[in-house]
Amino acid sequence: MVGAGFGGLYALHRFREQGLDVRVFEAAPEVGGTWYFNRYPGARCDVESLDYCYSFSDELQQEWTWSEKYATQSEILEYINWVADKLTLRDGITFNTRVTAAVLDEDTLRWSVTTDSGEEVTARFVVMATGPLSSALTPDIPGLESFGGEVYHTAHWPHEGVDFTGKRVAVIGTGSSGIQSTPIIAEQAEQLYVFQRTPNYSVPAGNRVLTDDEVAQAKATYDERRRMSWRSGGGSPHVAHPKLTMEVTPEERRQAFEKRWELGGVLFSKTFSDQMINLEANEEARKFYEEKIRAVIDDPEVADLLIPDDHPIGTKRICTDTNYFQTFNRPNVKLISVRKTPIQTIDATGIVTSDARYDIDALVLATGFDAMTGTLAKIDIVGRGGRRLVDDWADGPRTYLGLGVDGFPNLFLVSGPGAPAVLANMVLHAEAHVNWIADAIAHLDQHGYAALEATPDAVDNWIAECNRRADATLFPKANSWYMGANVPGKPRVFMLFIGGFAAYLDICAEVAGAGYKGFSLLEPIAAER
Ligand code: FAD
Ligand code: NAP
Repeated sequence: MVGAGFGGLYALHRFREQGLDVRVFEAAPEVGGTWYFNRYPGARCDVESLDYCYSFSDELQQEWTWSEKYATQSEILEYINWVADKLTLRDGITFNTRVTAAVLDEDTLRWSVTTDSGEEVTARFVVMATGPLSSALTPDIPGLESFGGEVYHTAHWPHEGVDFTGKRVAVIGTGSSGIQSTPIIAEQAEQLYVFQRTPNYSVPAGNRVLTDDEVAQAKATYDERRRMSWRSGGGSPHVAHPKLTMEVTPEERRQAFEKRWELGGVLFSKTFSDQMINLEANEEARKFYEEKIRAVIDDPEVADLLIPDDHPIGTKRICTDTNYFQTFNRPNVKLISVRKTPIQTIDATGIVTSDARYDIDALVLATGFDAMTGTLAKIDIVGRGGRRLVDDWADGPRTYLGLGVDGFPNLFLVSGPGAPAVLANMVLHAEAHVNWIADAIAHLDQHGYAALEATPDAVDNWIAECNRRADATLFPKANSWYMGANVPGKPRVFMLFIGGFAAYLDICAEVAGAGYKGFSLLEPIAAER
């Protein structure tokens, strides 16, 4: 097993419960994954805390109490540590150890796993819970390495925190991480320059402290909350408006958007169920959005720069914020559009664009991740016939259900490409994947099989199905990281299953119920019988 974030920790627990002998390798010194690394100011979940936590144990659900609607990074990390202690997970994890290679021995159907500490272990199964957003991207800006001041990436934030008081700071990047951190950095810094490439849609999070009554009520009705989440499109108990966008009157439409806006958060892009498939419907949401955002920005020219005009709303991961747009009304904050005035170079003391120079003391890179495939690509994964996963995936990731890969028997992915992954509440998503993998292993053992291997046909058909579903939506219209568009040279393919969380779980259950349709069940090789 690789990784000790939400996915890996649950896998360790579940596999142990099943009596398996499990070893987890984790590159970091602690558990937490995403929430261990992303400690930038303002980091929070954007799925409600009450939903963004393990559902497999009612005891855990009842004992833990979230303090805010959207928990801070530190509270989520505290929760993950609490779970790790409660379930006695740490003794199964080798920390500070990066897996560098996993090589299949076709004769024994065993994997040889190598780490950067020189250890080599042999395993029947390899489960990659390495995270879809765990390889931070540093932009290729000329001169970046010559900058003499402080440089921070949001995904590798110093544990002791950073105090920007009295400093001139630049933030590059206006995705979720940039949008969450900018308002807080602006409060500290003497001067803040925000370098924006593509303007992003961001909806007020509507974060607040949860009252005791709310928590008690949620805990009393957790079963129903979870039932709705498992049957939903995105893994949280959200129900879209019962009618389509253009079926209602303009007044009803406005009311529905208004209600969703007041509730806050990413679900604004799911107010109506057709918003992400019908451009006319999407445009209604976009117009409402634009009106709301223009209303809070003082300078109309700054508003023009901040309002996206190149992709439909929601086709890039919609962001949530607390006073992001209002931050540009502050006298110490300046927005620089690098589309209009590109960054030419960074030197020892500042950033030079095509029309100005900005002297700074500190640089914050909120420039995102090589998502979905970047972390797996760093591991030398070698399957049948010496085939390397990176080569097989040169034109885009190839998986069946996001769980298995042809030519790589008994290699499983948690929240890999080809699954809904980041389109869903990823804690429930990880639980679903781990449960499926654990059941598959139990099935192999009960029936005397050695291994499970996706067939090339099943993989081809699944990729075609993912593409077909994506093409029926507005998502491919955006140059998003879902499409690999943020990494120079990365193939442009929509890397996720977009048919909805519940629909996806039904397919996975159907595949398992039909004796793992699309997978070959391999007999033990002669030497082992
Ligand atoms: P991770 O948490 O990324 O854990 C993977 C682990 O694998 C890491 O600890 C890493 O060190 C380890 N690892 C990787 N490669 C190796 C290797 N070769 N050897 C050893 N160890 C390795 N999702 C939501 O659903 N809701 C949210 O609100 C939300 N907010 C987010 C906020 C931020 C800032 C970010 C970056 C992501 C957010 N996500 C959110 C997505 C988030 O990544 C998932 O929700 C979830 O935490 C992923 O868990 P994981 O265990 O799959 O992966
Ligand atoms: P991101 O969404 O990929 O944003 C990266 C930003 O950096 C983009 O604005 C991008 O511009 C910009 N950028 C990249 N390279 C650049 C360059 N060379 N020059 C100028 N700008 C450059 O990354 P992220 O903000 O870290 O978020 C990634 C994902 O993590 C999110 O979509 C979400 O799933 C998750 N996340 C969630 C939360 C939350 O609210 N819970 C918070 C943070 C992250 P372009 O758009 O033009 O590429």
